[in-house]
Amino acid sequence: MKPYPVNCVSIVIPVYNEQQSLPELLRRTEAACMELPYPFEIILVDDGSRDDSADLLQQAAEREGSPVVAVILNRNYGQHAAIMAGFEQCKGDVVITLDADLQNPPEEIPRLAKLAAQGYDVVGTVRSNRQDSAWRRWPSKLINLAVQRSTGVAMNDYGCMLRAYRRTVVDAMLACRERSTFIPILANSFARHTTEITVEHAEREHGDSKYSPMRLINLMFDLITCMTTTPLRLLSIIGFSMAALGILFAGLLIVLRLIFGASWAGHGTFVLFAVLFVFTGGQFIGMGLLGEYLGRMYSDVRARPRFFIEKIVRSPAASTSHSTVSPASPYLNKVAP
Ligand code: UDP
Ligand code: MG
Repeated sequence: MKPYPVNCVSIVIPVYNEQQSLPELLRRTEAACMELPYPFEIILVDDGSRDDSADLLQQAAEREGSPVVAVILNRNYGQHAAIMAGFEQCKGDVVITLDADLQNPPEEIPRLAKLAAQGYDVVGTVRSNRQDSAWRRWPSKLINLAVQRSTGVAMNDYGCMLRAYRRTVVDAMLACRERSTFIPILANSFARHTTEITVEHAEREHGDSKYSPMRLINLMFDLITCMTTTPLRLLSIIGFSMAALGILFAGLLIVLRLIFGASWAGHGTFVLFAVLFVFTGGQFIGMGLLGEYLGRMYSDVRARPRFFIEKIVRSPAASTSHSTVSPASPYLNKVAP
């Protein structure tokens, strides 16, 4: 693993109705970035907030010499699409994402940047004080195992969005035109060296989680479909096994009917009903999964833009601010002429 030359660090933060957290977020993030030995920019993407978040972001970006770039989306596209919008606008060699609700401590930014500069493609975080019940921990263990098998990279916590990505990984993710995606997993499929650090995870101070149970279910399906199409194959494997079992079972019933007579078969009616119900249930689960994939294909086939940026606000003095990038960097000359 070779050290990675860093000329600029970008922080990307999705914001959705977070006006109460924003002043502290901006203060703490800027303070943490000041500790960085590199120039930096802080890209805040307003994901169609209905409160004053967009105005606050705009004001922060218009401040003289501000490192803040405000990207305002026209409506709510979801956390991962908003982060993608931020990726598209950032120019750093290392890109760090975090949540706007201050559950992820911005003070960890220098540690993440340092590890990325050591040559890690993706630096993840594990929530040290995560206190979940067993029924919540087991599904995430299963997901981690599935992700490890499909991307070849092992990580312990995909739920924490405080993460650092190397430029090449960000570019690869931007080249994926799919609309439903789960960024930490997508990133892992392009990463060679990854590491994780332990961070504190705070309670949300202002407002509520933006994920309703329905949106969480949707995110869960995004996670599965962005990672693998194995469920589709499983569907046919299950179908074949069921058909084979059904034939064997029917054969058995016929034989038993011949041996024990009609009255015995009559008593077995309810067993058949039970079997029928199990089969029907299996079919419905299969159809549901199929529907999930089809739904996503439908939205991809329609090829609507993933997001539509209404405007981008940068500080007028951006060229003399922290976000200035040394023109000596050949890569940055290319992306930011
Ligand atoms: N978020 C967003 N768009 C959405 C939902 C959430 O940009 O549609 C942002 C939100 O402002 C926050 C981050 O995504 O910065 C994580 O959201 P939240 O804290 O509600 O998720 P949780 O911590 O409950 O998983
Ligand atoms: Mg949160």
